[in-house]
Amino acid sequence: MVLDLTVLTSGKKEKLEFEFEWTFEDLGFLRQHSPIDSGLFHAKGQVLKISEEFVLQLDYSGSLNFICERCLDSLEYASSGKVYKALSTQEDEEEEDVVIYSDHQLNLVEVVEDDILMNLPIQIVCKQTCKGICRTCGKNFNEGPCTCNTETIDSRLESLKNFFNNDEEV
Ligand SMILES: [Zn+2]
Ligand SMILES: [Zn+2]
Repeated sequence: MVLDLTVLTSGKKEKLEFEFEWTFEDLGFLRQHSPIDSGLFHAKGQVLKISEEFVLQLDYSGSLNFICERCLDSLEYASSGKVYKALSTQEDEEEEDVVIYSDHQLNLVEVVEDDILMNLPIQIVCKQTCKGICRTCGKNFNEGPCTCNTETIDSRLESLKNFFNNDEEV
């Protein structure tokens, strides 16, 4: 959704309200995670002229489907937020609370993309207690334990214990 700011930049109006719905078709902005697809998003807000500045207020909510980074199951992530930012045409303004627009056009979907990214957890998991999968057999530990390599780990721990015990004795 690209908002045409001409009514504001031309001085015809001091307030421009908007409301729109969309689904993300390009999930490239989430590339450090594993997105599957996007649910419906809804955004509502306004651009205000305050003194000589433009200010954007935007509320959004929606959902995204991801692959859990621990167990590889799919999960639905509810995403919502409030954005309050000043607008600027100065590309070199790298302040966090400033959104750049050009040619009187403001890309609102990009604003939401940035906000979603900023609020995503470092690791997206189906639940905080997700136990992950076995790296050997692929068994989802949330469904129960596997049998394949408990012995190997135990024997490795055993030799490690012996190593330290021996060390102490010397
Ligand atoms: Zn999981
Ligand atoms: Zn296993």
